[in-house]
Amino acid sequence: MNASMNYLDGNAAAGELSTIFAMDVTTAEGQCGNCGAKQRFADVHLYLQCPGLVARCPLCEHVLLRLVNVQDRIFLDLRGMTHLIFNTRQQPGASS
Ligand SMILES: [Zn+2]
Repeated sequence: MNASMNYLDGNAAAGELSTIFAMDVTTAEGQCGNCGAKQRFADVHLYLQCPGLVARCPLCEHVLLRLVNVQDRIFLDLRGMTHLIFNTRQQPGASS
């Protein structure tokens, strides 16, 4: 990790997001609410140097998701994305 790359990819958020979502969010495709880019959540830039985690668009750095876990409450802000698309055939345990 060099100084200009102080983030992880979205896969690093899998554990935290699994406490909220039954499906694996990192495999979902999301659309950036700012530039319209579509990418797998696993490909976002994930910043952990804050209380919680912040996911940013890899193209325009717009904030896509913020998650803060404090005591028995989880704050989740998804307004940076227009939508998330889950492919139910790619989920573990899915019948195909
Ligand atoms: Zn963007």
